[in-house]
Amino acid sequence: MSIDFTLSPELEAIRLRVREFIDDVVKPGEEKIGSIDRADSRMEYIQILFGMRAEAQKVGLWLPHMPKEWGGMGLGHVELAMVQAEAAKSGFGPFVLNCMAPDEGNMHTLLHWATDEQKEKYLRPLCEGKAMSCFAMTEPEVAGSDPTLIRTNAYQDGDEWVINGHKWFISNAHRAQFAILLARTEDDPDMPQAANTAFLVDIPSEGWTEVRQIETMHGSTGHSEILIEDLRVPDSAMLGGRGQGHMLGQYRLGPARLAHCMRWIAQAEMALDMMVDRSLNRFAHGSLLAEKQGIQWMIADSTMELYQAKLMVLHAAYRIDRGLDFKSEVSMAKHFVANALGRIIDRSIQVHGALGYSTDTPLASMYQHARWARFADGADEVHQMRIAQRTIAAYKDSGSTRTATGDLPI
Ligand SMILES: Cc1cc2nc3c(=O)[nH]c(=O)nc-3n(C[C@H](O)[C@H](O)[C@H](O)COP(=O)(O)OP(=O)(O)OC[C@H]3O[C@@H](n4cnc5c(N)ncnc54)[C@H](O)[C@@H]3O)c2cc1C
Repeated sequence: MSIDFTLSPELEAIRLRVREFIDDVVKPGEEKIGSIDRADSRMEYIQILFGMRAEAQKVGLWLPHMPKEWGGMGLGHVELAMVQAEAAKSGFGPFVLNCMAPDEGNMHTLLHWATDEQKEKYLRPLCEGKAMSCFAMTEPEVAGSDPTLIRTNAYQDGDEWVINGHKWFISNAHRAQFAILLARTEDDPDMPQAANTAFLVDIPSEGWTEVRQIETMHGSTGHSEILIEDLRVPDSAMLGGRGQGHMLGQYRLGPARLAHCMRWIAQAEMALDMMVDRSLNRFAHGSLLAEKQGIQWMIADSTMELYQAKLMVLHAAYRIDRGLDFKSEVSMAKHFVANALGRIIDRSIQVHGALGYSTDTPLASMYQHARWARFADGADEVHQMRIAQRTIAAYKDSGSTRTATGDLPI
C-alpha cells in the first residue's frame, strides 16, 4: 500500500485556480453584495451572483463533483475535498461553483437513482445551473433523527400517488423548482427502514404549500415549512423503488455529509488564520497575545483539531473513491469536524475579544452557522450510537476493535 498525500501537478493546478478564482472573483463579489441593500436592489444582487456563476462556468470551475459528461470536472471525493475546502473560504463559493448543499447531494442522488427520463427533466437543469432543488424529509411532529417515524404518507390512486403530510427545515425549498420528497408508502414493511419511498415533486404544484421560511439563529435563509395536502404525482415521479426511500436517503447522506465537512474545514481554517493574525497584532500586559501561553494553547488545540479533521476527511473520501465501506469513517468525520469547527470559531472569537462578538468580522456569523452542524444530517449522539455499535460489532466478530478505527494498516 502506498500512502501519498501529494497532489498531481494537474490537481495542484486546479486547487490553485479555485483559490485564485475565490480571491479574485468571489470575494470581491461577496463584498459588493454585502454593501447593497438586498431588499432595494434584488436585481443587482442576482446579477452579481449569477455573473459569478457564469464566470465559473466559463473558466471550467463548475460542478467539481459531477462527471464530465454532465458538464462537471469529474473529480473523485479526495480531489473534491481540496476544491470544496478552497471554495468554502467564501460563503458564496460553493454556490458559484454549483457544488452547494442540498443541490450537490441531490445531483449525486439523481445520477445514481433516477431513470434516464428523470435525469433529463431534473438533473440536467440542475447541472446547467438553471434550476435548484430541495430534499424534504424532516417533519416537526416526529424525530428527524429517526426517519422510520416519517408520517407524511402516499397512497396509490390509479397511476398517481396522493401525498399528505407536513415537512420543515427544508433548505432551499423557497427557491427550488423541484423536491425529492420522502413519504411513507408501506403499511407493513419487512423492516421499518423499508416503509418510505422517494418522489420527485415539481414546485410549484397544487397541494405543496410553503407555510413560512423558518427564522433561525442565523436569520431566515430559506429553510421552509411545507404543508402537503392531496398532492398528486404520477407513477413516473417515483425515484428509486417502492420502500427504498430510506436507503436512498442514507446513500445520499454519506458523500453529502463529507462534502459538508470539506466546507467546514475551510471555515475552521479561516477562523484559525484570523485567530493567529489577531494574536500577532494585539498587545496586552507587556507582550503580544501570540506570546502568551494561554493563547498558544488555543492556537495549538485548534491546529491539532484542524489537522485531525483534514486527515479524517481525506481518509473517508479515499474509502468512498475506492468503493470501500465508508459509513463509520464518514460518521466519525462528520461528528469530529462539526464539533471542531464550533470550538475553533469559539476560540477565535475569544482571542478577538469584543471585536469577535461584533459583526465587524465574519466570526459571529460563522459561529451561528456552525451550530447546526452538530445535529443536522445526523445528530452527534446518533453518530456516536452508530460508531459505538460498529466498534462493539467489530470486537465481537474479530476480538479486536481495529477495523472500526478506520481499518488502517497500523
Ligand atoms: C439549518 C438546517 C437545515 C436543514 N435542512 C434540512 C433539509 O434540507 N431537509 C430535511 O429533510 N431536513 C433538514 N434539516 C433537519 C435536520 O436534518 C434535522 O434537524 C435532524 O435530522 C435532527 O432531527 P430533529 O431536528 O427532528 O431532532 P430530533 O430527532 O428530535 O433530535 C433532537 C436531539 O435528540 C438527541 N437524539 C436523537 N436521537 C438520539 C439517540 N438515538 N440517542 C441520543 N440522543 C438522541 C440529539 O441530541 C438530537 O439533537 C435541517 C436542519 C437545520 C437546522
